[in-house]
Amino acid sequence: MKPVRLRVSLLWMGDTHSQLRELPSVDRLLGHPGAVRLLDRFNRHYVTAKCRGVLDGLRSSIRRGETLEPGDLELETLLGRVTQAIDADAETSLVPVVNATGTILHTNLGRAVLPEAAITALQVAARYPISLEYDVARGGRGKREDAIEPVLIDLTGAEAATVVNNNAAAVLIALNEFADRREVIVSRGELIEIGGAFRIPEIMAKSGAILREVGTTNRTHLADYEEAINERTALLLKVHTSNYRIVGFTAAVGTGELAALGSKRQIPVMEDLGSGALIDLRGFGLSGEPLVRDVVAQGVDIVTFSGDKVLGGPQAGLIVGRQRWVSRIERNPLHRALRCDKLTLAALEATLRLYQHSANIADDVPTLRALARPLSAIKAMAEQLVPVLQSALGHEFRVRLEDSTAEIGSGALPTEEIPSKVIVIEHQVMAAEGIAQRFREARPPIIGRVRDGRFLVDLRAIEDPRDVIPNWSGARPRT
Ligand SMILES: *Cc1c(COP(=O)(O)O)cnc(C)c1O
Repeated sequence: MKPVRLRVSLLWMGDTHSQLRELPSVDRLLGHPGAVRLLDRFNRHYVTAKCRGVLDGLRSSIRRGETLEPGDLELETLLGRVTQAIDADAETSLVPVVNATGTILHTNLGRAVLPEAAITALQVAARYPISLEYDVARGGRGKREDAIEPVLIDLTGAEAATVVNNNAAAVLIALNEFADRREVIVSRGELIEIGGAFRIPEIMAKSGAILREVGTTNRTHLADYEEAINERTALLLKVHTSNYRIVGFTAAVGTGELAALGSKRQIPVMEDLGSGALIDLRGFGLSGEPLVRDVVAQGVDIVTFSGDKVLGGPQAGLIVGRQRWVSRIERNPLHRALRCDKLTLAALEATLRLYQHSANIADDVPTLRALARPLSAIKAMAEQLVPVLQSALGHEFRVRLEDSTAEIGSGALPTEEIPSKVIVIEHQVMAAEGIAQRFREARPPIIGRVRDGRFLVDLRAIEDPRDVIPNWSGARPRT
């Protein structure tokens, strides 16, 4: 708890001992009618702890010789502090924030914002018992992924599908199933690290697979894979280098070529797509993110991708491919350890079904909506917003509009820049970091970005312009 700040008062300056004696006991505080109201809502143990915290804080202040104000030791005042402490507790959990970073899928901000249909499905799954592993028609046990599998098969053209906690888990379980204590051949140019914590070589080590690197950082040829194949080879792995691109004198083996090699030598081929698109993003001016369907069609045996990257659903690891390989993954004991919970499955199914039936998928999935939004719409919103924001912030701030580029984030389409508009906010004395902090102190917090010493509010992912007008006067609940 924060130390209680006491202001100096000349009106009342009792000595330390008498002040300490005047401090009420926890029991007296709890017996007050104000505390009874708190005890209706919170358990006694919790309220007692909060009372003790306030009294301890005050006791330390008195001992330090800080001066009290009249009324500071009164029961009402003390209970007011207890209530404040309880209110502050309620605020410290996960709070909604405004994503003005210009990174549409920001891992630190929870990646994809879910489609409405997914939110509804999630609420139903949370509120009622559901047919998670129950076959309602037959009245017996069903499989947890039964609802998802046919939809994924339909959307990707694969023979079979399953789902685990996230894509890192999908890679882990696949490597463990196919290559435990055997070799996996992978190009040196694809040994990636994502977000610091996910490194392909480390996941491989944990899975039991032995890494067999081939080629060089910038060039790998089919012959490199061919020459590395031996009797210990269990898998050929291709990793979509989703968060960087090697440019210049480069060579990589295409998905189709690798799949053909695998089938000739009877070795399964897996591709970790990272993001993996279910629809062609070139319609939004974005190239470079492979379609899962295309990768499957090229003969790759196992394809893995994330549920909460460009797909725009909940966190999940989707695995599609040939029946015999997917079945093996489903029987691996790790499948139980890495399984998705009912809320995820409900949200994922609803999101995938949108891809099946929506007349306007780019409108129904917020991630795609943010990507597809024409620059002219952002510009129109921005031009109305700038004067409103300027007057809300006051003359000490200077607010103006600039062209900028946003990115998808979470490793998708790293070199792809999406045109956007930013509001540059400067202050007479405050530096960019200070302004950024002020905006984070708003309710809800507005998370912008600081670039080249300037604070920027990127509008690509902002749908309601009022979201970026900071509210510093207390909580404004977002509905
Ligand atoms: C993002 C990514 C992962 C990790 O996926 P999560 O769903 O975040 O676990 C793995 N591989 C690649 C290529 C990625 O881009």
